[in-house]
Amino acid sequence: MKTIYDVIVIGGGVIGSTIAWHLAKTKRKVLLLERGRLGQEASSAAAGMLGAELEMNEPGPFFQLCLESRSMYPTFAQELLEVTGIDIELTQNGILRLAQTEATASSLQKTVAWQKAHGGSATFLPAEYIKELEPTIGNTYGGIWIANDGNVNAALVARAVGKAASLTADVLEGTEVYDITLTNDDVTVHTALQHYRAKQIVLANGAFANRFLSALHMQPTLTSVKGQLLRILPHGSYQLTRTISSAHHYFVPKRDGSIIVGATEEYNSFSHTNTVSGLAQLLGAVQDVFPDFGEATFLSSWTGLRPLLPTRKPLIGAIATNPRALVAIGHFRNGILLSPVTATIITSFIEQQEQPTHHLAFQP
Ligand SMILES: Cc1cc2nc3c(=O)[nH]c(=O)nc-3n(C[C@H](O)[C@H](O)[C@H](O)COP(=O)(O)OP(=O)(O)OC[C@H]3O[C@@H](n4cnc5c(N)ncnc54)[C@H](O)[C@@H]3O)c2cc1C
Repeated sequence: MKTIYDVIVIGGGVIGSTIAWHLAKTKRKVLLLERGRLGQEASSAAAGMLGAELEMNEPGPFFQLCLESRSMYPTFAQELLEVTGIDIELTQNGILRLAQTEATASSLQKTVAWQKAHGGSATFLPAEYIKELEPTIGNTYGGIWIANDGNVNAALVARAVGKAASLTADVLEGTEVYDITLTNDDVTVHTALQHYRAKQIVLANGAFANRFLSALHMQPTLTSVKGQLLRILPHGSYQLTRTISSAHHYFVPKRDGSIIVGATEEYNSFSHTNTVSGLAQLLGAVQDVFPDFGEATFLSSWTGLRPLLPTRKPLIGAIATNPRALVAIGHFRNGILLSPVTATIITSFIEQQEQPTHHLAFQP
């Protein structure tokens, strides 16, 4: 054993890479260990929505956390561009959530009411306004317009934070962690070829975190929720101008004119296979929302594994029994959105700074 690191981060998705980069900026000696290639799992698969309001069902610390992280994105994108030269394609073009039944319309009106009262930007639009905004959309009962949500290119975010981490920290790809030994004095991380010692570790290995939770005195309650996605190119010169979301699906326009369609939710699956029924579900959603898209070109399909905890919210912070171990896990459907704020929280835990109350709600 040679170097003793200040912090070892396990897992090089958007969460682990952003944390490693932020910690290295505090002049700590940081090692990031990734079993394959940086960003190879959920992070590069994601649709890239910054759905801070779209995905929320109730007020509280999680809603606050999502709004906070969304507000960090312009600076995050600019800094990544300056440090890595990679443009993550931040597009602040809003999200339109459709009501395809009367019942959904009335529940969305309630959503608008509580979100407005808690700092949200959503407003309810009647059906004729929706038709005016996006003429290709089929019949609706109205919907909500979330002006401040947006999207990024998730694969580019994963690449950019991975590059930023590589420029500032020691990064080892192709290095799988097999075990962690935690004592009151330090932490040892075991890989096939080497053991690495550090003062602290951060577990950030997405849907695969269960393997180490017992070693950190935590219940291994994380599950994987597989999502299938596909990409289409509308025919002619048609361009979708904003993200559209229906009850179970979304359509996210990208800068090249293509649209990402997602996503299935398949609980307890670690498979990376696209299936006939999964793709049929997504294509059915396209035809349902955009009846004229029959001639759109099918470009590609892929899958990703979302990390889900029983609370459906992430755990971010030091574990109660030993402050040498921190976790940043369970970001489920919002890990791209939440990567800047997650790295900020972990960094301030390690720097022993005071946390705002709503951050403490996510402490393990
Ligand atoms: C279909 C789909 C659509 C999504 N859409 C959105 C969206 O629109 N907006 C949004 O905000 N979020 C979205 N998400 C969620 C988002 O992708 C995840 O929450 C986020 O990527 C989780 O990041 P992570 O770094 O925790 O996990 P991952 O990206 O999975 O990274 C974990 C890393 O740890 C590595 N690893 C695992 N075990 C070990 C080990 N033993 N040793 C070393 N390394 C290890 C893995 O190889 C992997 O690279 C979506 C996810 C999916 C699947």
